[in-house]
Amino acid sequence: MAVVSACLHGIRVPILLLMCQTVQAEWFSQQQSIMGTVVTVELHHAEPGQATRCADQVFAEMRRIDELMSPYRPDSEVSSVNRDAGIEAVRIGDELFSLLQQANDFSVLSAGAFDITFASIGYHYDYRREQQPSQNLIDETLPAVDYRKLMLKDRMVRFASPGMRIDLGGIAKGYAVDRSVELLQRCGISEALVSAGGDSRILGDRGGRPWMMGIQHPRTAEGLALAIPLANSAISTSGDYQRFFLRNGERIHHIIDPDTGKSANRSWSVSVIGPNATATDALSTTLFVLGAEQGLALIETLEDMDAIIIDSEGVIHYSSGLKDPLAERGENRQKAVSGRQVQE
Ligand code: ADP
Ligand code: MG
Repeated sequence: MAVVSACLHGIRVPILLLMCQTVQAEWFSQQQSIMGTVVTVELHHAEPGQATRCADQVFAEMRRIDELMSPYRPDSEVSSVNRDAGIEAVRIGDELFSLLQQANDFSVLSAGAFDITFASIGYHYDYRREQQPSQNLIDETLPAVDYRKLMLKDRMVRFASPGMRIDLGGIAKGYAVDRSVELLQRCGISEALVSAGGDSRILGDRGGRPWMMGIQHPRTAEGLALAIPLANSAISTSGDYQRFFLRNGERIHHIIDPDTGKSANRSWSVSVIGPNATATDALSTTLFVLGAEQGLALIETLEDMDAIIIDSEGVIHYSSGLKDPLAERGENRQKAVSGRQVQE
């Protein structure tokens, strides 16, 4: 019931699976399971027919992107790359080529903390069956985790190392959210929220007021660590509490440090706020791997990007765009700058 009441107060928790219905007239809300997660569309509409028509376009778009990019579907374009690019160059469509280039840009930016070839080793983890690769297998496979060995040219992709694989799980949902928001705008919608699991983007605001976006506490089920008011922005959260199992006291989870081939262990949760969800998605995964110190240093170099990092001791770190001078002086627990207020 805590979840329902959170909804009624207008708080949306991007990484909780919420089952909310519309609480205000003229706001429409619908959820579907796509891309292995819950996709939520909430929008403000002129008439109900427009709402279902526009939301249906979003769900269809999410399905289309999943069919193109899921590594679990044998007939997806990504699966054909994983099958054949180690043998010969594979011709791919403009859309996938462009997303691979964007993924490469984040790899260059982070010196490889973000790397879609993590899948070369990530593929050997099965979180549901609680399986992980042996150290021998990691040592053998790790040379294939290297974005510089993913050759992209003239809409062709080729693996320069045997045993390579790619997986767009760290960027594709954000991309799908951005595409969805573009579709909603073309559909005549000016106020909406689209979420796919931990990736959300807000178009406009909520009737003149910001959306309160909750960030789940990484160690307390259903609890919120904090909430942040947002309008016209994207927010993505990466955490170690979504897909994981425990082995000898160690948390084995789905964000892989490309340096070690093991679960990244410098963070519990990272949220990135910025203008588009493709970037916030990739950067939340990136900063999760980098940890608070290097992650904040990176985010400070990027315009319009902010981050909230909960490190592996539970300490919350904010980028400078979110810091409150009052809180700095110990006068107030609220942190605010640039119109953004974080409520702990
Ligand atoms: P999710 O919303 O699926 O939990 P995140 O944005 O937190 O996604 O990213 C985690 C996903 O990113 C993993 O499930 C995996 O597909 C992919 N991934 C894991 N490690 C890396 C990495 N170092 N670089 C790029 N992608 C990664
Ligand atoms: Mg991500």
